[in-house]
Amino acid sequence: MSTTATNPAPTNPALTASVDRVIQLISSGSGSAESCSPELAKGPWEFDAGPVSYGPGSSMGDVIPTGSPRQGALPAEYKTASDAELDARVRAAKATLGDRVLVLGHFYQRDEVVAHADYIGDSFQLAGAARSRPAAEAIVFCGVHFMAETADLLSTPEQAVILPNLAAGCSMADMADIDSVTECWEALEELYGTEPDETGRVPVLPVTYMNSSAALKAFCGERGGIVCTSSNAETVLEWAFERGQRVLFFPDQHLGRNTAKAMGVPLERMPMWNPRKPLGGNTEEELDAARVILWHGFCSVHKRFTVDQIEQARASHPGVRVIVHPECPMPVVDAADEYGSTDYITKAIQAAPAGSTFAIGTEINLVQRLAAQHPEHTIFCLDPVVCPCSTMYRIHPGYLAWVLESLVAGEVVNQVSVSVEVAEPARLALERMLAAKPPANGGGTAAAAAATTTTTTTAA
Ligand code: SF4
Repeated sequence: MSTTATNPAPTNPALTASVDRVIQLISSGSGSAESCSPELAKGPWEFDAGPVSYGPGSSMGDVIPTGSPRQGALPAEYKTASDAELDARVRAAKATLGDRVLVLGHFYQRDEVVAHADYIGDSFQLAGAARSRPAAEAIVFCGVHFMAETADLLSTPEQAVILPNLAAGCSMADMADIDSVTECWEALEELYGTEPDETGRVPVLPVTYMNSSAALKAFCGERGGIVCTSSNAETVLEWAFERGQRVLFFPDQHLGRNTAKAMGVPLERMPMWNPRKPLGGNTEEELDAARVILWHGFCSVHKRFTVDQIEQARASHPGVRVIVHPECPMPVVDAADEYGSTDYITKAIQAAPAGSTFAIGTEINLVQRLAAQHPEHTIFCLDPVVCPCSTMYRIHPGYLAWVLESLVAGEVVNQVSVSVEVAEPARLALERMLAAKPPANGGGTAAAAAATTTTTTTAA
């Protein structure tokens, strides 16, 4: 398991302003950059009460499924408090709670939230951190819904996992719901049955990305399947290929395609499954030949990166090192110098000689923070438009202050808990992943991604 970073010393705001600050400057007309939506300057509570949407940011065009968790009204005092007041209240509540609470912060959270995290990391690292303090009564997860569910699966039954804003989902995770995946599975079972071949491999084996609901992790656990992250996707796919003639990979088509391609799977053996079409929009012959059947999901944050942006970065910064996340579309991964998980990106920057220049294709909050923490380098986001992940952006310091002060008052609000029937098989799928042992370096090269025969490096 990767080592989770403890929160580093606060960064010097003079070096690089937080994304929140940049958005405020743009909104006031004194910033030079542009943002993807003027609505970003509003508090998330403006959208929690309104029509069902993910809110402003990268996912604002995605369709939020019916029945997604909604956030109730935030008490007015938290909406009207100044940034400084909220910061002080969060610090005071944390000091009062001491070891009774563990605050986890995802890399993509705004700096004003991450400043209070005991651990910061990606979803895989934070899943490990959730197990680090079994004596803590509550784990406040500053991330999105599937991450809080995973923390609940891995923490002790006595611990309460709290998501400060219940409307902080993940639009990619929501693109694969249990009913659609079950229908797909039944169609594949009708074609191929369940009997293993002479080598012991089942006809289809399910693999879900960590960015999925607990119900889908349980789905995999019940069918011999497994979970993967962007750090260990190649290791997990290798594990799955040994056990299945085909892999059904969901919800992120790009992570599945980029990883399988780097392992030598030809594109024509990676059909995509669209749940709105019969046989997912494929012929029986295409499915017969499939090695990986890709669900049609994607991340709207990473979908924003383009080959054109890479070309512009190279033109304006000769010698720039371009690193993108494997949730980016395949042409972008192919055009980049390297690709890898957020952990890979962070370590690559840490290891680089001073004076290096990086163009990074991942969420803006992480890129801005890395730029602030590494003034010895030039680091910028490939996408020139300031556009955070809509759902991560739902966690505002106001919500964090509210859940922590509620704990001080003896009340657990916004608890996320997974039912026992779902938890048991979901844990099984997670344990298979942990046993599959991710590769040490967690990153790959664009050259490997472009290969269609043998794998020469590890994937993201
Ligand atoms: S960055 Fe993409 S995958 Fe991550 S939480 Fe946001 S929408 Fe989901």
